[in-house]
Amino acid sequence: MTERILVSLDGAVHNPDLPFLYADDLGAVRGEGVFETMLLRGRRVRKVGLHLDRLTDGARLLGLPPVDRAAAARAIEIATGEWVRGSGDAEAMVRLAYSRGRESVPGAGPTGYVSVAPIPERVARTRTSGVSVMTLNRGYTTDFAADAPWQLLGAKTLSFATNMAAVRYASERGFGDVIYLSADGYVLEGARASVIAVTGRTLLTPPAEVGILPGTTQRAIYAEARRSGWAATTGLLTVDDLLAADSVWLISSVTLAARITVIDGTLTVTGDGTDFLDLVNRSVDGDE
Ligand SMILES: *Cc1c(COP(=O)(O)O)cnc(C)c1O
Repeated sequence: MTERILVSLDGAVHNPDLPFLYADDLGAVRGEGVFETMLLRGRRVRKVGLHLDRLTDGARLLGLPPVDRAAAARAIEIATGEWVRGSGDAEAMVRLAYSRGRESVPGAGPTGYVSVAPIPERVARTRTSGVSVMTLNRGYTTDFAADAPWQLLGAKTLSFATNMAAVRYASERGFGDVIYLSADGYVLEGARASVIAVTGRTLLTPPAEVGILPGTTQRAIYAEARRSGWAATTGLLTVDDLLAADSVWLISSVTLAARITVIDGTLTVTGDGTDFLDLVNRSVDGDE
């Protein structure tokens, strides 16, 4: 199934194989914009509210025009309908991009669009087989973000080149993904995922204040964990803490949970991850 869908924020459906952006779009030439990647499963996009919350916060951090949430939700709905019409129950990856718009046309307003595409093959593989990771120093300390709003550390910006470079760097060395560490040696996040360590029925993830993206999937899992009587905690953690946990996971909207099998060449200890995966699946099915 190779169908793809493209819908602009005004609700118009476009041919995804025809030119769409203007060459002077500030999202394209400077990465000035924010985006969300969402999971379409069972004919609906999951956690739309949480994604629009984060998009709205990110747009504010970048000084973009406020997001028209109703228009964005409508565009997602139209794109979902188009996908389901062609592909039925198939899962898909939905991306919402929102940029500052055209550089040379004052008052043209933001550019926004929703695209739908099949789930990448990598996703299916890491869901079932897990992923090996390499730790990489991100270069800032855990107290940096609070005093550096210009670094946009809490926004999922379209300036994603260093994230992808980190993944390539790891891949060239035989690893499937990365975990960023702070300059003071603490676990931050993946290049496109949050990190959760599981020990018994206790979850541990770093707090957003250390300069990471607040993950919508992590948040939904934490809400479900609390409903189910698990302890859902945040705190600073080191690589040794990860290695001591029963299981460690990269968490994100489309992959959901990828079990980390190896960290820098050390096998992670292998508790049974089934209970946690059940929790993840319940959290995806919950309304928000
Ligand atoms: C997208 C992303 C995440 C995961 O966020 P979700 O909302 O769970 O998909 C975490 N960290 C980074 C850097 C990301 O880009």
